[in-house]
Amino acid sequence: MTRSTCPYCGVGCGVLVDARGNVAGDPAHPANQGRLCSKGTALGETLDQPGRLLHPEVDGKRASWDAALDAVAEGFRRALAEGGPDSTALYVSGQLLTEDYFAANKFAKAVLGTANIDSNSRLCMASAVAGHKRAFGEDLVPGVYEDLEQADLVVLVGSNLAWCHPVLFQRLVAAKAARPGMRVVVVDPRRTASCDAADLHLAVAPGEDVALFNTLLRHLHAEGLTQPAPGLEAALAAASGTPALPAADLARFCRWWAATPRVVTLFSMGANQSSAGTDKANAIINCHVATGRIGLPGAGPFSITGQPNAMGGREVGALANMLAGHLDWSVPGEHAALAEFWGAPGLATQPGLKAVELFQAAGAGRIGALWVMATNPAVSMPDAGAVRAALERIPMLVASDCTRESDTVELARIRLPALGWGEKDGTVTNSERVISRQRGFRPWPGEARPDWWAISQVAQRLGWDFGWDGPAAIFREHAAVTTLARPAARVFDLAGFTALDDAGYAALAPTRWPVPAPGAQGGRLQPTARCVPTPPRLPENATSAGFPLALLTGRLRDQWHTMTRTGLVPRLMAHVPEPLLSMHPDDAGSLAEGALARVESAWGSAVLRLKLDPAMPPGSVFAPMHWTDRFAPAARINPAVNPAVDPISGQPELKHTPVRVLPVPMAWHGFVLARRPLPTDLAEWSARLPLAHGVWRHELAGQDAPAAAFARLRAMVAEPDAAWVTLDDAAAGTHRAALLRDGRLLAVVFLGATPALPARDWLAGLFAEERIGLAARRALLAGRQADGAAPSPTICVCHGVSAGRIAGAIAGGACTLAQVGEATAAGTGCGSCRPEINALLAAARVAEPA
Ligand code: SF4
Repeated sequence: MTRSTCPYCGVGCGVLVDARGNVAGDPAHPANQGRLCSKGTALGETLDQPGRLLHPEVDGKRASWDAALDAVAEGFRRALAEGGPDSTALYVSGQLLTEDYFAANKFAKAVLGTANIDSNSRLCMASAVAGHKRAFGEDLVPGVYEDLEQADLVVLVGSNLAWCHPVLFQRLVAAKAARPGMRVVVVDPRRTASCDAADLHLAVAPGEDVALFNTLLRHLHAEGLTQPAPGLEAALAAASGTPALPAADLARFCRWWAATPRVVTLFSMGANQSSAGTDKANAIINCHVATGRIGLPGAGPFSITGQPNAMGGREVGALANMLAGHLDWSVPGEHAALAEFWGAPGLATQPGLKAVELFQAAGAGRIGALWVMATNPAVSMPDAGAVRAALERIPMLVASDCTRESDTVELARIRLPALGWGEKDGTVTNSERVISRQRGFRPWPGEARPDWWAISQVAQRLGWDFGWDGPAAIFREHAAVTTLARPAARVFDLAGFTALDDAGYAALAPTRWPVPAPGAQGGRLQPTARCVPTPPRLPENATSAGFPLALLTGRLRDQWHTMTRTGLVPRLMAHVPEPLLSMHPDDAGSLAEGALARVESAWGSAVLRLKLDPAMPPGSVFAPMHWTDRFAPAARINPAVNPAVDPISGQPELKHTPVRVLPVPMAWHGFVLARRPLPTDLAEWSARLPLAHGVWRHELAGQDAPAAAFARLRAMVAEPDAAWVTLDDAAAGTHRAALLRDGRLLAVVFLGATPALPARDWLAGLFAEERIGLAARRALLAGRQADGAAPSPTICVCHGVSAGRIAGAIAGGACTLAQVGEATAAGTGCGSCRPEINALLAAARVAEPA
């Protein structure tokens, strides 16, 4: 058994992995104590990824590592000569291990002499970092996960914890079950799955969070609950604004918060991804600082990161506005101390370009060499169409990645094969400052190598010898950086690791920082803190003529980033098989559920399938950020997202883009099930996903003549010695065909005039059979079983239980989560689906006659 850490989110759950890749939660890890969510549970299914990048490539041709590294070094040399240090850049990722991150930061700031290194963490939690620095003088998360269990009131702000940090949500739900007096408040424009645990949902409009916490601060002061704190008077003077919420709800929230000393306010991407994200963080922190409810059991503000090692990147300074080890350009002596320690007289002297600025500079032709590591900015950045064009313009674009199948890797001139989870070795830090080991347990595939190694090899070609023989040496150097320029008042301290030998590193148990001496274990922090004025302001581009709706983007329960891993796991795709645009029914007008809809902004557009959802606030629409060229090219949402950023943190406004939504007339709608993936350009609109038994489902819609499309699609999947069974009725708009060889189903092609087509699940199930029976053949082109089972999404991915089966169990008398579990097994696995089962139970209760 190997002890490692899940690579999917900032909870940082410990996992136990056996030699065959079977994954279980690590009962000894403090983050999860044995639990895992649906994504972590499926980790073993993503180990053998198709499309791995296995060899270096230069200009589209396979190259040796030496040749590729020479080309990278030459590209940087040329850019330095032609444009100076600031024409070079790195764009890295919260997927990197701390050691890789450290190497990338040292390469940029010491070797290239530029601070143009930014991370996709800029999109995730840069506002929290800026808020921490303004309040605490340092990027500190005061709390620990136990605080969520010990609090009497937990406020989730812009956090769908149930879907985005499911194991923390499970801990919260378990604590609430054990102490029913505990209260949970959800602050979110949408009624999300996290509301399943909520005693109160405050559906603030996007951008109203500052006004909410300013209102709370005024209330706390009026109630005599504030205590002297630096900056409090100024913060109170600026604390204007009142959110447009029902007065009784707002009063209840203020009353509960005021009356509850043990209160945790947890905030995440919904707060951070905003043009006022830093003020949102500080408005929250102000209330805790002003009342002294910080760094105590069950009390404090709590920023949760999205990525598994966003915290590690912050620690090593791999962001354009940070130096390293929490050293700061603005503190006299700290830059000099680092320059001396690294022997880097050319160490970057000032902050560099943050992510949005970096790609704008590239678009303007000011970046001559960019090295992208483990991230996909062509898809994930706002105004992604402009970012793609900028990437195409860079003379030397290098991409280090595990996969060949990423939109950004496709664009790169030089491709370097990186190690993935289960292969690489290093550390990560989770949202509660716990440093854990990620350990390799699989052989390195092809010629893939660690990122730190590739970086040090290029550095060597530019005249630098980093002198590292493995990640342990890098970790020791990272720890040593945290000891520089003392006695400056800094909490981040890894002095206890500076002499950690290789064996100690190999065996390192999860350890929370600060670690001032060997064997130390950090706890809660009570930082020196100040309040910060946070006058409320509307989101940038809040209103725009002709764009009456606000677009919010975010994540789905079972998906991760741009689906490079989770998009290959059938059971993770079963929950939401297609890119859906959620909209309140009152906003729909003539748009119908299931139709294709174009979301259009001043920056770009995307086409998704419409889902009418009463849980959406009127006036807002929600789109997931996951779909890419590889899965659904027309549904990439980020080209439509506005590039406005927070003026302090540089974090993009991903939660508010003015848009309009228009119908997309299509001549036909259809789907193809086939035993191989087909290209995504089969039709004007397509979305593909893997199913069980090696089958791929392709959802399609087109504007050409249905009969021609039917013939074209059939030709694409035709195979020798196979025969078609068809039902082709042009007058009725029905075009259906099944391809069989010796009774074995090879493909089906269904087209119709509307999106209302037969259920795919039953048809897909027929692919498992070696020879389909007579009854199934008869029903095949009808597209349904003899009993007429209706389509139904999979709710429980652990046990493959659909919403229909759960509804059946409820109709049969199951009244509780436990009874549904007994009847169907749904909800008895990782637990990620329990909020949705509860929603079905609640809906059934509402539907019962009085
Ligand atoms: Fe992984 Fe889920 Fe834990 Fe996040 S909550 S670290 S995705 S198992």
